[in-house]
Amino acid sequence: MSAGTNMADGRLGLMLSQLRLPTIKRIAGDLCAQSDREGWPGHRLLEAVLEHEVTERETRRIDRHRAESQLSPDKRLSSFDFAAVPSVSKAQVMALAEGHEWLDRGANVLLFGPPGVGKSHLVCGLGHALIEAGRRVLFARCSDIVQRLQAARRDMRLPQELTKLDRYDLLILDDLSYVRRDQPETSVLFELIAERYEHKSLAITANTPFSQWGEVFVEPAMTLAAVDRLVHHSTILEMNVESYRRRAAQTGGAPAAGKTR
Ligand code: ADP
Ligand code: MG
Repeated sequence: MSAGTNMADGRLGLMLSQLRLPTIKRIAGDLCAQSDREGWPGHRLLEAVLEHEVTERETRRIDRHRAESQLSPDKRLSSFDFAAVPSVSKAQVMALAEGHEWLDRGANVLLFGPPGVGKSHLVCGLGHALIEAGRRVLFARCSDIVQRLQAARRDMRLPQELTKLDRYDLLILDDLSYVRRDQPETSVLFELIAERYEHKSLAITANTPFSQWGEVFVEPAMTLAAVDRLVHHSTILEMNVESYRRRAAQTGGAPAAGKTR
C-alpha cells in the first residue's frame, strides 16, 4: 500500500477532506514520504505542501476568470499575425499584455478599422493575456451591454449593474459602431464610460472613426464628452488594412505579410 493511500484513509485524510484541501490530500502522502526519506526540517515540508495548494488555487482562479470572460478561446495573441497589420506595433501590444499597470490607472485601448481586419481577434488575445496575468476581463458585444444596462435602468438598478461591471479590470466593448441611438436610452453607454473613467479600463473596437460617433450617442455634447473621456488615457490602435478574411480567401491561406516597420 502506498503512502498516498494511507494518507487518504487516515485521520489526516479525513481532516483534509473536511477542510476541502483535495490537492494537499492528493500529494501529502508522497511529500511526507519524501520528507521522511530525505530528513526535511518541518518548515520545509509545510512549505512544500502549501506551495502546491497555492499554485492549484491560482490555476483554478485563472480557469474561472477565463470561463466568465466570454472571450473566444481560440483568439490568442499567439495566433495573431502581426505582419498583416503593419500599422500596429507588436511590441506595443505585448507591452500592454505584460505590463498591465495601465489597468490600475483605468487607461483604455481603442481599436479602429474596417470589418475583418482583426480588431476582435486582437482585443480577445489581449484579454486572454491579461487573464493569464491574473486580471479579470469581460468581453461583450457593445449592443448587448447597452441592452443589459437599459433593462437595468428600467428596473431602477442601473447603479448596481454598473457596480457589478466594476469587478472587471478590463471591460471589452466590441463593435461600438453597431449601437444606434434610435435604440431608446443609449445614454446608458455614456454612463458606463463616465462611471469607469480614470477608474476601470475599457477596450473598445469600432469600425467608424470618432467623427461618426454622433450616430451612437444621443446628442453632440454627449458624444464629445464620451470621446474626451475615452481618449484622455488611451492607446489607440489603427488597423486600416484590407480584411484579413478577404485576403486569406484571395491567396488561399494567410495573407502575404505586409511591409514591416
Ligand atoms: P474585426 O473584428 O476587425 O471585424 P476579426 O477579429 O473578427 O475582425 O477577424 C476576422 C477573422 O480573421 C477572424 O477569424 C480572425 O481570427 C481572423 N484574423 C483577422 N486578422 C488576423 C490576423 N492579423 N492574424 C490572424 N487572424 C486574423
Ligand atoms: Mg469584430
